[in-house]
This record gives sequence, structure tokens and C-alpha cells, in this order.
Amino acid sequence: MGRNGSPHDVHPVFRGHFRWFAAIRPRYRAASHVRKLTCINVCVAAAAFAATVEAARKYGSETTMKAFVYQGPGKSALEDRPKPDITVPTDAVVRIVKTTICGTDLHILKGDVPTCTPGRILGHEGVGVVDKVGPAVTAFKPGDRVIVSCISSCGKCEYCRKGMYSHCVNGGWILGNTIDGTQAEYVRTPFADTSLYHIPADADEEALVMLSDILPTGFECGVLNGKVQPGSTVAIVGSGPIGLAALLTAQFYSPAEIIMIDFDDNRLEIATRFGATTVLNNTDGKAVEKVMKMTGGRGVDTAIEAVGVPASFITCEDIVAPGGVIANIGVHGTKVDLHLERLWDRNITITTRLVDTVTTPMLLKTVQSRKVNPKRLITHRFKLDKIQDAYETFGHAAKTNALKVIIET
Ligand code: ZN
Ligand code: ZN
Repeated sequence: MGRNGSPHDVHPVFRGHFRWFAAIRPRYRAASHVRKLTCINVCVAAAAFAATVEAARKYGSETTMKAFVYQGPGKSALEDRPKPDITVPTDAVVRIVKTTICGTDLHILKGDVPTCTPGRILGHEGVGVVDKVGPAVTAFKPGDRVIVSCISSCGKCEYCRKGMYSHCVNGGWILGNTIDGTQAEYVRTPFADTSLYHIPADADEEALVMLSDILPTGFECGVLNGKVQPGSTVAIVGSGPIGLAALLTAQFYSPAEIIMIDFDDNRLEIATRFGATTVLNNTDGKAVEKVMKMTGGRGVDTAIEAVGVPASFITCEDIVAPGGVIANIGVHGTKVDLHLERLWDRNITITTRLVDTVTTPMLLKTVQSRKVNPKRLITHRFKLDKIQDAYETFGHAAKTNALKVIIET
């Protein structure tokens, strides 16, 4: 699609080319069938076809776009899809400039997310340029650079009025789930006024892709819910992108200790660079023992679960100090034992949350003022036509050392 404007701004040369190709195409097809074209005609037609395909690839057609589509468990493809349009007055259509892949997308591809049905364009993160707005949108106009939030919020329902956008009765996590998402050249974003965020003129767009989901998720579900405080002791179980996002944002509050627990030395090495005071590789199964020893048998004030499997949650149960908080971030697909026989008298709090993205404007300011640099989470970059490679890289993170991968349209 037009990289410097809407597809309606296709370069005049190519507009002419499309018309010309549309005119010759039926003749070319018919002629080929009866094999009456001279060799030179075929060559000219083939060259014209190749040029047109190239032009379409580069500048897009007026009505179609490339989009990454979930086709059922284990199946996905980059497809040509109709370009989205405004369907209700509060919508905007955003031309995606950069998007990324979330662990949740991998769950969808495995068939673990029943709300996301085959045929859905995936993706709930990204930055782009507003292409069109519905008549009820007042805060954005075509040409505005925006962050697309992973959560769509109507701003009017009971949950939205409480700041719990994730449970918006008209929105919530719908992008790339129950409606088409951002891993495409264009996306329709419902409730644009309350679900998009303006990008400041001097901002680094790539860093801001991390504000769609991962940074507010690590911060809200891990750090805020975990009540991280100055001087407190924090353990983060899971040093993947979400755990690292929690690690980066936990430091707003100057905890005395941040212990990172994982099985991957590369990720733990990154955690050290990102500010972890201690890293523990739990391959030997001794992380709990080591945490208890380090804390004089007391445990940690905040245990953040950032994986989403029973073992990591149980590690949090094992290391939380009396009066502490277990803050769950992970998406759990199987049941987890709650050991109340050990925890009932320990004054602990267990929190769960789907990211509300209420802190996105605040986090944007911290990125702008360089208090935090989420760009450090980006390890790989791909073009949209190589999105399968991006999934392959992201899906085999232990081998590729991938954290977040950027996909450019
Ligand atoms: Zn996500
Ligand atoms: Zn709402």
C-alpha cells in the first residue's frame, strides 16, 4: 500500500498502469489460451504483468491489502483481503506502519483461543497513520500518527467508566480476536477516540509499538497489581518479553531487589542488562531454595508470574513472603493448584488482571522522557511479506533469542 499516503494516493504512473493492465488483461488471457500471441507480445505482456504485480506489491491496489490470517489450528497465511472501511461512526481506519507478534498470537495459532475463529486477521499491536475516520470521531483525523491499543474501549459502559477498559462490554480485547487485527496493511479500529493514542512528533515509532500491549501489561498486571514499592523485594518468574517489561517498569519504584527466574541463560543475561539484581536459572529446580536463602527465609514482597503455566505460579506461591503479593500476568490454559494449606495464614494477596491500558498515556511520557526504553525489547525486524519467518523466529525464541519482532508493512 502507499507508504506515503492512502492507497488513493497511488502514484499517477501506477494509476495509469492499473487502468492499462485492466484493459489488456482479458485480451492477454484469451490470446494466451489460443496461443496466437507472438513471442514479443507475450514478453511485453509478461513484463507488463510483472511490473504491475510489483507496483501492486509496492503501492497496493485501491481495494485490497495484504493480511496475515488464522486459518484454523496450525494453519495461517498471508492473504489478499479487502481493505477495511468505516462501519460505524466511531471507527477509524489506520494504515499500519509497524506491528508485532504477541505470545497470545501463538496460542491462537495452536487453536487455544476459541473466540478467535478461522479467517481472522491476527494482531492486536501496532503503530500507524490514520487513513479515514467515521463522522463521530473528533480526536483524530486522517494523517495523524497513532498507537493502536490492544484494548478497544467505548469509554461509556460501566467498566470503562471505572477505568477497566479490558472488560468494556462493547470492546475489550477484540482486535485480532473477535474482529480483524493489525497484522495487515490496514485495520479498522472501533471507538477510535478512546482506543487510539497520538504519537508525539519526535517519538520513535518502533519503541511505541511496545505501548500497544506489552509495556502496559507488564506494568499494570505485574508492577501495579504487585504493589512494588521503594526498598521492596521483587521476584519475576519468566524472563520473556512480558517479564522483561515488568522488570523495566518495576524500576520506576526503586525496589531494593529484583530477582529474575527463568530457564534460559540468554534471557537472564538480558535481564541483568535491564536491571535485575539477581538472576536464577531454575534448570536445577533450586530457584525457590535460593530465593528463600537470599531473603533470610522470608521470601519476596512481590512475586510476579510472567509465564502462564502451573509450575511458574506454584513457584510464586513458594516464594511469596507473609504480607506479600502474587501478581499473575501469564495467560493460563490449564488449572493450577492453589496451596491454601500453606498460604491461608500468610496475609498474602493474589491478583489477576487483563491489561486495561489505562496507563498507556503515562507510559508514553516515560518513554518520551527516556525513563524507560522499550525499544530494548526488539530483537528482530521483518517485512510484512516475510511474516511467516517472523512467526517462525518468534515461535522458536529459545533457538533464535527473539524477544519482540517488528513487522513493517
Ligand atoms: Zn498481546
Ligand atoms: Zn466500554
